[in-house]
Amino acid sequence: MAFEGLAQRLQGTLQKIKGKGKISEADVKEMMREVRFALIEADVNLKVVKEFVKTVSERAVGQDVMKSLTPGQQVVKIVKDELTNLMGGEQNPIQFARKSPTVIMMVGLQGAGKTTTTGKLATVLRKRHNKKPLLVAADVYRPAAIQQLQTLGKQLTLPVFSLGTDVSPVEIARQALEEAAREHHDVVIIDTAGRLHVDEKLMQELKDIQALSKPDEVFLVVDAMTGQDAVNVAKSFDEAIGITGVVLTKLDGDTRGGAALSIRSVTQKPIKFVGMGEKMDALEPFHPERMASRILG
Ligand code: GDP
Repeated sequence: MAFEGLAQRLQGTLQKIKGKGKISEADVKEMMREVRFALIEADVNLKVVKEFVKTVSERAVGQDVMKSLTPGQQVVKIVKDELTNLMGGEQNPIQFARKSPTVIMMVGLQGAGKTTTTGKLATVLRKRHNKKPLLVAADVYRPAAIQQLQTLGKQLTLPVFSLGTDVSPVEIARQALEEAAREHHDVVIIDTAGRLHVDEKLMQELKDIQALSKPDEVFLVVDAMTGQDAVNVAKSFDEAIGITGVVLTKLDGDTRGGAALSIRSVTQKPIKFVGMGEKMDALEPFHPERMASRILG
């Protein structure tokens, strides 16, 4: 593992102050330096780290930490609590429409795991929520993307609505909603086009699909491995179209997941799911507390 956990990092400082009986404000300061390094190493946005350390320092100095017999553990606990709070505290469920169908738009850059996540999400909806999802192939720029969704649909025995690459994504969405009404699908998941970069054309197309389908959820799929880039992507998408939630993929990889913290702080939008592998059952609800433990190491 390339990272050194925070608890481990604090050990050195703790050794020094052991036997001191009490710790000073300077000791707390030194611990905060370690917290700062640990978070930066976990790829948390610098501005977020700064504000965070300030909050934690205030709590640590203000509370009984300095009088405590286990100041190091106290600090780790405060850090964990605050990390959890920063990520929304509680798990954040899918928003279902009052009147079916619930429309979920999947957006994101190419390669983030959007299509895979669409399949995984449909699996979750069917298994845990007893829903009858319709998958919609709206990436008309890459025939391979449509093919990929159709293959997933076959594998999962779920219907995939496609009109090929010659019909506009908005028209595909419109006809998909008609199909959903006809076939009594209670969830429609629209897999939109992913591009290599955030650009005007992509955003306009998403806005058009959004205006027509009035989604209950707009899920941005981002790759956790891309760290700070993921945060910038989240910011751009949120500013342009207004996302309702984030799915953080590839958390099974070698990443501390600092992106989770930054994305939440920067966009104020909840992370709803995390991708933990390539298989169709590897999508889990996002738990802020578990992520806090992971970031701490
Ligand atoms: P899209 O271009 O955004 O639709 O991306 P894809 O769904 O095609 O995914 C790109 C690659 O990432 C594929 O090889 C997926 O199997 C892989 N992938 C997606 N989600 C995860 C995940 O949570 N963990 C891992 N390890 N791989 C993932």
